[in-house]
Amino acid sequence: MSKRSEVGDKTPSSKSGASGTTPKAGSKAVVPKGTRNVVPKSMPGPVAMTKKDGMLVPEGYTMRKIEPAKNYDVESFARAMNPDFAPRLKKLFEPETEAAVKAQQTGIYIGWRLPEYKFDCQRVNDMSKCFCSHLLGEHAQYTGKSVRVPCVQGGCKCKGFAWVPSRPEDVGEFWMQRRRDFDPSTWRAKCRCKHTHEEHEAAGMRRCKTGCGCGHFNSNFLCAACDKHWEDHETFFETEQDRVQKGLPVGEMYLPFAEMPHLRNIALTGAEDDDSRYQALVQGEGSIPRNRAIEAPGNSQAFPAPRGGASSGFKPVYD
Ligand SMILES: [Zn+2]
Ligand SMILES: [Zn+2]
Ligand SMILES: [Zn+2]
Ligand SMILES: [Zn+2]
Ligand SMILES: [Zn+2]
Repeated sequence: MSKRSEVGDKTPSSKSGASGTTPKAGSKAVVPKGTRNVVPKSMPGPVAMTKKDGMLVPEGYTMRKIEPAKNYDVESFARAMNPDFAPRLKKLFEPETEAAVKAQQTGIYIGWRLPEYKFDCQRVNDMSKCFCSHLLGEHAQYTGKSVRVPCVQGGCKCKGFAWVPSRPEDVGEFWMQRRRDFDPSTWRAKCRCKHTHEEHEAAGMRRCKTGCGCGHFNSNFLCAACDKHWEDHETFFETEQDRVQKGLPVGEMYLPFAEMPHLRNIALTGAEDDDSRYQALVQGEGSIPRNRAIEAPGNSQAFPAPRGGASSGFKPVYD
């Protein structure tokens, strides 16, 4: 039996994808200085970048796009911050990894994205924060068909869960956590009026409650994945079937870095050569049979045939 991961020369292989995004030794560390953007636009990257559908994409990277910009940026940035690349990456993506695993188990996918986009900027789970300041788990019960999931906390006017960044790194502010006096529990996403989301009405136009004259929340940050404002996004509750119909990733393909096995493994286990958790997911930890033919063209690599010696075919390749 041949290794499926070597099939599919139509796709840029994980090899070229991964090695292409690995910064050369000596490439300078990206130390954001007041930029809220993870995309190192001013830095000549090791990979030529091209703009597609408003997203920066490594050139030649034409397979199904799942947050290519974010993948690229996080890898180059985080590797520049060695040596604790793996633990930092795992921590950074932990909420999204857990959201993806949960989605696969429940069949309910919760994604925050631009309505017209074919990828989620954020995978959402019960611990994710809403604009109203309450967690998704503090909102009403939801299904994969929910349109609006209102908050059920006393006195809260929130009519529908709307994901909001709760960590500075969610909006690309990686340098915050390095400040010695920084307290992550007090960080809040802000409006252009300088007031936090909690200082804005949770419903309606999301007017600022401080009396500063701001009529609606207008993020002073851009999404780390798509470069658009917070208010351009929506939170979607979907079933696997809905997503398949819309051409959105499901199952293992919904995992962070689904196309980049070594990064995906780090997100899942903290070690790039440990694919045990991935194999468990592929082989049915989820409630949804994964052997159905929902394989997207050009992604054969990401749907390996279950085989013995699980780790063999998945040694990440980059240099
Ligand atoms: Zn609420
Ligand atoms: Zn809410
Ligand atoms: Zn405001
Ligand atoms: Zn204000
Ligand atoms: Zn976005």
